[in-house]
Amino acid sequence: MNLKLAIQKSGRLHEDSIKLLNDCGIAVKSGNNQLRAVAENFPLEVYFLRDDDIPQYVEDGVAHIGIVGENVLFEKDKEAEIVEMLGFGKCRLSIAVKKTDAYSSPSFLEGKKIATSYPVLTQRFLDDNHIKAEIHEISGSVELAPGIGLADAVCDLVSSGSTLFMNGLQEVQSILKSQAVLVRNKSLNDEQQKILDQLVFRIRAVRKAKNNKYVLLNAPNSSLQQIIDLLPGMKSPTVLPLANGEWSSVHSVLPEDEFWEKIEALRKAGAQGILVVPIEKMII
Ligand code: ATP
Ligand code: ZN
Repeated sequence: MNLKLAIQKSGRLHEDSIKLLNDCGIAVKSGNNQLRAVAENFPLEVYFLRDDDIPQYVEDGVAHIGIVGENVLFEKDKEAEIVEMLGFGKCRLSIAVKKTDAYSSPSFLEGKKIATSYPVLTQRFLDDNHIKAEIHEISGSVELAPGIGLADAVCDLVSSGSTLFMNGLQEVQSILKSQAVLVRNKSLNDEQQKILDQLVFRIRAVRKAKNNKYVLLNAPNSSLQQIIDLLPGMKSPTVLPLANGEWSSVHSVLPEDEFWEKIEALRKAGAQGILVVPIEKMII
């Protein structure tokens, strides 16, 4: 029995989805315009689909699980439950208007025409703000709409904002922050659930490892306690004596987001020869 996973066939989520599986030790070959691939060493069958279709496939149980952006998941509003945030495909759904327009609040949009590929989320934003505006649904190149007189504003995905800028638009309001998520069908049987649990266990180990670094350093014994206090470690740091009796080697795990700050403090406390090593998997 294989668990069926739907991922994007090609596009911004495709490579990161395959890489996540590979990092989990699951070998999936993609390419050659194929619709499906069977993993070599894990009970998983991968379906390559348009991202827009993934929520429906998962709701219907044709795919048991899927990887899709929250933007698409919420727009489609299907019965698919989020199992895990995946930390890639980060973007936001934002309202943008012409650079020359002065937007100070959503009321700017009253009576205006908004082009978007996300009519459901756009309408929800308008309703929440008690705004009446006309939504013009288009499936691609939304950013061109104001320039050709099709709309006054757009509601579109943004990551850097450079596409908007190049089209004479300015991002004025973000209505949803999005990243790729792993979703599941509501009713999996025990066997399917077990495979999903194994997959999620691996995904968590991979993601934790990415967010942490292994740090080795030499500490003068005179400031050893001060240095230990700076380091969390998985339980507490490992301390080993060096051949030179006045120094110790200290090993620990540091979260990426505290990293530079901690390294500074460690150097100030007298740490030397600091080595920082990536962690491949982390199971706690
Ligand atoms: P498909 O052919 O599968 O329908 P698509 O053209 O709709 O592909 P892509 O542009 O490949 O989709 O984007 C897929 C997903 O990647 C988006 O739904 C979103 O979750 C995420 N994403 C991340 N950054 C961006 C961005 N700057 N612009 C668009 N999507 C982004
Ligand atoms: Zn799409």
